[in-house]
Amino acid sequence: MRYAMVIDTKKCVGCSDCVVACQTENKVPIGYARDWVVEVTDGTYPHLQMEIRSERCNQCGNAPCVRCCPTGSSHYSAGGIVLVRPRRCIGCGACITSCPYDARFPHPRGYVDKCTFCDHRIKEGNRPACVEVCPTKCMYFGNLDDPASEVSKLLRQRRYKTLIPEAGTKPHLYFLT
Ligand code: SF4
Ligand code: SF4
Ligand code: SF4
Repeated sequence: MRYAMVIDTKKCVGCSDCVVACQTENKVPIGYARDWVVEVTDGTYPHLQMEIRSERCNQCGNAPCVRCCPTGSSHYSAGGIVLVRPRRCIGCGACITSCPYDARFPHPRGYVDKCTFCDHRIKEGNRPACVEVCPTKCMYFGNLDDPASEVSKLLRQRRYKTLIPEAGTKPHLYFLT
């Protein structure tokens, strides 16, 4: 089992419903976010292209945040999901510094927080909250080890990219381009 998220940048309209859904579902404290939307302009004038992306933790297969955590709080869970054990976290912030995607934040309760791929929902057979609410259905979630899964099919059929591949983190967030 290897969970992954595939996001279609051609369908994202930047509405931020994913951000609101995550904040509600995961009780993200005001002023912080587990996911966010970026708008990037590529190319040179007059051949400019705009890309809108919903971003979050990349659930890296080679995660620096796990390697650098001195207490084992940051760890790999089932399906390769990178999670934080709040009780073991001492709030040193090493993981925040090590993440090339700026995906973590210090929770006011004293531990570090980030996207969990909504593991509590997955365990009950539901999709992550952000995927569930997207009005343009531009986000897909599933098992990359299953060739018949929607995410596997999309990655066979479409062009895609990952973010900052040169960091060697083996991201599991794929952006269809
Ligand atoms: Fe860790 Fe950052 Fe990768 Fe998420 S995106 S697994 S927080 S290094
Ligand atoms: Fe580990 Fe917490 Fe330190 Fe992050 S802040 S490296 S999760 S102990
Ligand atoms: Fe938030 Fe869950 Fe989406 Fe991660 S998968 S950004 S925790 S709603």
